[in-house]
Amino acid sequence: MIGTGYVGLVTGACLAELGHDVVCVDKDRRKIEALDRGSIPIYEPGLDELVARNVSAGRLRFSLDLAGNVKGRDAVFIAVGTPSNPETGQADLSYVLAAAAEVADAIDQFTVIVTKSTVPTGTNRLVAELTSQRVRAPGDAAVASNPEFLREGAAIADFMKPDRIVIGVEDERARRVMTGVYDPFVREGRRLIVTGLETAELVKYAANAFLAVKVSFINEVADLCEAVGADVDDVAQGLGSDTRIGSAFLEAGPGWGGSCFPKDTRALDAAAREYGIPLRVVRSSIEANAARKGSMAARIEKLCGGSLAGKKLAVFGLTFKGQTDDMRESPSLDVLPMLLERGAQVRAHDPSMPAAAGRLLPQVSLDSDPVNTARDADALIVMTDWKVFLGYDLREIARAMADPMMIDLRNLFDRDEVLRSGFRACVGVGRWNTQAVELDAGPREYRPFPRRRGSSDAICVAVPAVA
Ligand code: NAD
Repeated sequence: MIGTGYVGLVTGACLAELGHDVVCVDKDRRKIEALDRGSIPIYEPGLDELVARNVSAGRLRFSLDLAGNVKGRDAVFIAVGTPSNPETGQADLSYVLAAAAEVADAIDQFTVIVTKSTVPTGTNRLVAELTSQRVRAPGDAAVASNPEFLREGAAIADFMKPDRIVIGVEDERARRVMTGVYDPFVREGRRLIVTGLETAELVKYAANAFLAVKVSFINEVADLCEAVGADVDDVAQGLGSDTRIGSAFLEAGPGWGGSCFPKDTRALDAAAREYGIPLRVVRSSIEANAARKGSMAARIEKLCGGSLAGKKLAVFGLTFKGQTDDMRESPSLDVLPMLLERGAQVRAHDPSMPAAAGRLLPQVSLDSDPVNTARDADALIVMTDWKVFLGYDLREIARAMADPMMIDLRNLFDRDEVLRSGFRACVGVGRWNTQAVELDAGPREYRPFPRRRGSSDAICVAVPAVA
């Protein structure tokens, strides 16, 4: 396994768990030294035990030495980064191609070079061309595309119980090796889709673009919910119960982010444009998502009385979603600077204490304690859906705040419980009472919406304070 990031380390450990003999190679000395000490360089639930178990069983080890470790292997997986080119939006393939070249130079027998990184159509064919020129004997290398669909925060379960395994392969020996790698899953009856190289590459981009579109869609529906007095959580439930639609990725929030959706939608859009194929739906999702960050900042400003100058804001969650320490293209990286620009002071708490936060958000002070984070704050903003937040003592948090108002951009908390805990207001996104509290504080009349079971007048009482 070349690369011990979120994908490489999880895939390496899971393949070892399936019984394979795995070496994970990285060029980052600190990562390999940490792994050798038994320390996991990323936050991923359950990964420490999985790695420890397979290391002690002798099926998993770590190394800095690529050339020495690819010899004699049936398959070498490339799981290195494919970041966006900031100018073109295209995927930067330099890490993949460099790794493929190093592998081809070192192999001494038939080896399948498997691209696990997310790469645009045509990349595996390029890897095949490049490696065939470098291997010692013709026919020593064959390529396979094996895109990964795991989600950070649930990566092990996603890998071990895959909806499908996609393998793009055009060489019979490589097909046998790859179906052998995943044989335990095939025996469990999991779906194995074997296709050509370009098809496998495109499945991954199409999947990520579709999920991004789904999130953008529900975010816009959430805006409409606020305008018409509907509740997006219930709309999503009604919508997602339709088996043709499905309930996943129908959670309204501050916009999508992370290490995949932003760069993959940009790369797909850029690649399609090269072929003269307009992907209007994907493009719209990218634009809607970019606009969403600004509208979240504007919403916070309105809720804080129209000005953030001198306001103290507490933020729960910095990572792009809960249960991960990944800050890449997190919505917080756009929204928080907008709040700072408007004059707010921001103190943040994230359970993973992401290493990148200090560098990426230098003006935001970080606190490991949630109550200290909220102390004297004029509002508490929930940016990330960390499940652990639900166990925090809301009463203590509300008591510590100057103005106990929660702006829950993930609809994570139960609003009634928040209000019962001493918050004067709890405003989510796309929730039925939100419209009265925010943006249009103008002449529009407040219409009392039908009461939901368990809802209380306290919600309405909170309204005039802001309007
Ligand atoms: P990452 O940045 O976390 O890890 C990449 C690792 O590769 C780094 O540790 C880096 O040091 C190492 N590396 C780079 N070049 C190397 C080389 N020549 N030799 C050895 N090591 C090298 O990246 P990631 O998040 O794991 O993503 C990897 C790929 O998987 C990307 O293409 C990404 O789009 C795709 N992917 C990511 C996810 C996810 O949730 N993170 C999910 C599915 C697919």
